[in-house]
Amino acid sequence: MPESYGELLKKAVCSRLRRVLVAGGAGFIGSHLCDALLRDGVEVICVDNLSTGSYANISHLQHDSRFSLVIQDAEHELKTEKDLDAVFHVASPASPEDYMRLPIETLRAGSHVTLNLISLARANGARFLLASTSEVYGDPLEHPQPESYWGHVNPIGPRSVYDEAKRFAEALTMAYRTTHGVDTAIVRIFNTYGPRMRVNDGRAIPNFIAQALAGEDVTVAGNGRQTRSFCYIDDMVTGILAAAVSKHSGPINLGNPDERSIVDLARTVIDMCNSPSSMKFVERPTDDPTQRKPDISLAGEILGWCPSVSLETGLAYTIAWFQATARQLD
Ligand code: NAD
Ligand code: UDP
Repeated sequence: MPESYGELLKKAVCSRLRRVLVAGGAGFIGSHLCDALLRDGVEVICVDNLSTGSYANISHLQHDSRFSLVIQDAEHELKTEKDLDAVFHVASPASPEDYMRLPIETLRAGSHVTLNLISLARANGARFLLASTSEVYGDPLEHPQPESYWGHVNPIGPRSVYDEAKRFAEALTMAYRTTHGVDTAIVRIFNTYGPRMRVNDGRAIPNFIAQALAGEDVTVAGNGRQTRSFCYIDDMVTGILAAAVSKHSGPINLGNPDERSIVDLARTVIDMCNSPSSMKFVERPTDDPTQRKPDISLAGEILGWCPSVSLETGLAYTIAWFQATARQLD
């Protein structure tokens, strides 16, 4: 029987990566990435300042001898990190509420932290993978968004601290590649969701699930006709690993092209939670993108990757996790 994509990827990960550093490894995406790397036999050093992440996300790894946790800001010197095959930079506030609450930290995550981590990769001869974002496209005028689209970003608006930090991080990554020959990869991550998102991180999916489970009004911004395309975390981690073991520099879009309006998402979550909640229409944030959908042809061509978890299936897993977590807190 031919080997599955997952089996082939696992072989590539095992053979190319022995020891890696994951900056931001105690966050939502980072902790799932640590899990997947360990599962594939890789030694993982997780560096995190716990600003938006949490020890709870990685506490189940504490007895794994191949896992170590360094609690510090990834902007500062990382003294002990030698013999690394890859450095993953997933350290940045990512939810609009977080990055607007932490504007300077977010700009530092794109600039100083990127510089420190790419220098570390260079010193180790390691591959450097930057977790960039669909937000580099801003409020896009081209739809869906291919990697060749340059974006439509307000450089001084409230979202600029995140958008421009990531655009700077991409430019820095490309400059280190061309100037110093560092082996780099940029992935542009579109809205990703799943277990371990913080209930109060302000993003649509955790907000809607928490509100629906509590029987509270579900807060839909504006008329809810703006769109997003939501990718389940397992698919995203597979795409990140595929990019990490490939030879491509990117940028590569990673996301699920199944585009939904926010009002449809709210209705789906309310129905799936069997909730009596109604929708409450609230003010739309400044510069909130009107539409977003990844063109993932490049990821298909060069990584052979495409997402496989439907929104309904991914939401079912996520709702079950939120319910179980809420029960533990009772
Ligand atoms: P998250 O907030 O859950 O995780 C970020 C982690 O980085 C946290 O654990 C935080 O404590 C840590 N961190 C932040 N600044 C740090 C610093 N200076 N030093 C050390 N650790 C630091 O966010 P996430 O959703 O897991 O996002 C992870 C990465 O993926 C981010 O770079 C984000 O920009 C990118 N991304 C995420 C999404 C998404 O939908 N989740 C979409 C696009 C891009
Ligand atoms: N949104 C909403 N209600 C909420 C939280 C978010 O209607 O309680 C909207 C938000 O305005 C945006 C969309 O949902 O139009 C996705 O928001 P999210 O913060 O999840 O992701 P991002 O804006 O970063 O794509």
